[in-house]
Amino acid sequence: MLLYDWGKPHFAFLDMERTPKMGRPAAHDDAFAAPPDAHAGPVDTETLAAHAQKLSQLNAWFEIALNNMARGLSMFDAERRLIVCNALYREIYGLPEELTLPGTPFSRILAYHAANEGAANTIEELRRQQLWIEHHAQELTHGRTFTHTQYLKNGRVILVTNQPLADGGWVDIQEDITERTLADERIGWLARHCPLTEIANRFHICEKLQTEIDRLKPGGCLAVHIVDLDHFKHVNDTLGHAAGDAVLKAVAKRISAIVRDTDFVGRLGGDEFAIVQTDITSPEQAAGLARRLVATLNAPYRVLGSSAGIGASIGIAVAPEHGLSADALLRKADMALSRVKGCGRGSSCIYRPDDEAMASERVVIEGDLRAAIERRQLALVYQPILDVEAGVVTGCEALLRWHHPTLGSISPSTFVPIAERSGSILEIGAWVLHRACHDAVGWSAPINVAVNFSAVQFAHGDLAALVAHELVSSGLDPARLEIEISEAALLRADPRTFEAMEKLRALGVRLVLDDFGTGFACLDYLRTFIFDKIKIDRAFIGGMAERRDSMAIVGAAAGLAKALDIGPVAEGIEGLAQLNGVRETGCRQVQGFYFCRPVPSDEVEAAVAQCLAKLEADTAAA
Ligand code: C2E
Ligand code: MG
Ligand code: MG
Repeated sequence: MLLYDWGKPHFAFLDMERTPKMGRPAAHDDAFAAPPDAHAGPVDTETLAAHAQKLSQLNAWFEIALNNMARGLSMFDAERRLIVCNALYREIYGLPEELTLPGTPFSRILAYHAANEGAANTIEELRRQQLWIEHHAQELTHGRTFTHTQYLKNGRVILVTNQPLADGGWVDIQEDITERTLADERIGWLARHCPLTEIANRFHICEKLQTEIDRLKPGGCLAVHIVDLDHFKHVNDTLGHAAGDAVLKAVAKRISAIVRDTDFVGRLGGDEFAIVQTDITSPEQAAGLARRLVATLNAPYRVLGSSAGIGASIGIAVAPEHGLSADALLRKADMALSRVKGCGRGSSCIYRPDDEAMASERVVIEGDLRAAIERRQLALVYQPILDVEAGVVTGCEALLRWHHPTLGSISPSTFVPIAERSGSILEIGAWVLHRACHDAVGWSAPINVAVNFSAVQFAHGDLAALVAHELVSSGLDPARLEIEISEAALLRADPRTFEAMEKLRALGVRLVLDDFGTGFACLDYLRTFIFDKIKIDRAFIGGMAERRDSMAIVGAAAGLAKALDIGPVAEGIEGLAQLNGVRETGCRQVQGFYFCRPVPSDEVEAAVAQCLAKLEADTAAA
């Protein structure tokens, strides 16, 4: 081995045969060194001693350098015998001292390492090792540097680089790349998984779905389910994001526990999950799994010391029937999911071709809605609200109408949610407010006007400033303006909604809680925020005659409102029996087709008169 002698520009020769310990060049051995100049005649002992000392110093440095390298190093000669190795090399392979002595055959080191890693002591194994050595040697003989990665059973990952030496031997460099490999693996894992729930992400689901579609045998069938959690936002809003995260994890676990090992579960994002259900013979099997999932996900969740209730809606698409691409199947499962949500959530549906029509209608509506204001297709109608005890009409609720040129009259229950999703509700809502304020100042009687506001309007922009502006521009008394916000919207509200409500109250307008009873009984907000009125949802009024529970709910809601000193209003009164029923519960404010259907602004006066006449007639009859 050649070592550079720092003292003079010549090389010292390290005699391997005589090196006392392999892997550690001799610290001092004057016999290692060739005479400084063989032809220069006799050398005095002082020069030799000085030379030996220098060499010994040099070897000591070499040893320090070798053993402090961040990489393992070993060097072999042309006969495939060890020349030198460092401490890290020894440590990586756990080599005993005797296998690090100079001259140790590479094959012995390899056999020891293989046995250490659990290889069998068989002829085949030895043959395999020999082949590997031949391959190794061949690469090196061709002067090629090559690398390979070793995965040790202790978990370490070692990158080995073999470099040929000029005299036919080679140098092995061992780099411990365990951490780098783990980081790479983590990055690779993250590219395909959701770190929170530790299940597949959208990318991985699409990939898997396509693979399974491509693998379908003739007559085979698979299903993709999109699971959307109902009221998940409510958990986040009321219990905090940590609880929301815990619910998502629990959902992932519940889904994974219920599906078969061959099925594939992932999170599409937000509160949406997907399942690729393979190896089924009919769509009915998919429907069965979906029913079980809905039931399982419905059970209460215990998170961070609280109990959380959510539900699940599921849309299903089946291959090959509904398509043979991952994109098409997911899109169709999503359309089926929209139908489930439209039908009140908490169940599952398999895709039907008319879902497509509904989805494209949604797209048409969304596009046309933007231009509806400009094209003057929107209009407001007004429905009177009466105080039956006082015998007066207290106000009218403004209700939006859209006359679509080809689709005809579209209900606000259909287009308002679409406008909320696309954001056009902001522009539409501003128009409604403007129109309602200006219409109301034109009415002969100074009755109130109630305007429905969407939660989206509360969450964006300065709603109070907009209301203040319309009050000033129309000259409407703020006390005549009532703003209705639905209970469901309130549950989806964020802190900005409550700030906006405070500001509105400061302007002197009234706040009404609409559709009370539909928003999943969390009555806490009734303490947080005082409303001027609570409107009991018409679904309960409608059921009063036939269902005792509806009657009980109306009674309880009216009682609650009165206890909180808030005026209850019963909406959707269609008949005398319902009117008498709500009056019995102590609810004196009512609204409904029984008295009057919504009418255009210029018919409000006549509508008010009609309501009063009806009330008088009823009273006289009673
Ligand atoms: P809502 O605020 O609860 O309005 C009352 C709904 O009940 C109206 O439906 C009204 O026509 C209907 N209604 C009134 N009396 C009866 C009755 O006796 N029987 C029955 N079956 N229904 C009755 P409409 O006009 O279709 O509005 C539906 C919903 O659309 C409204 O429910 C409200 O949430 C929303 N909406 C309407 N106009 C607007 C608006 O300008 N802005 C916003 N953001 N939402 C609006
Ligand atoms: Mg309303
Ligand atoms: Mg309502």
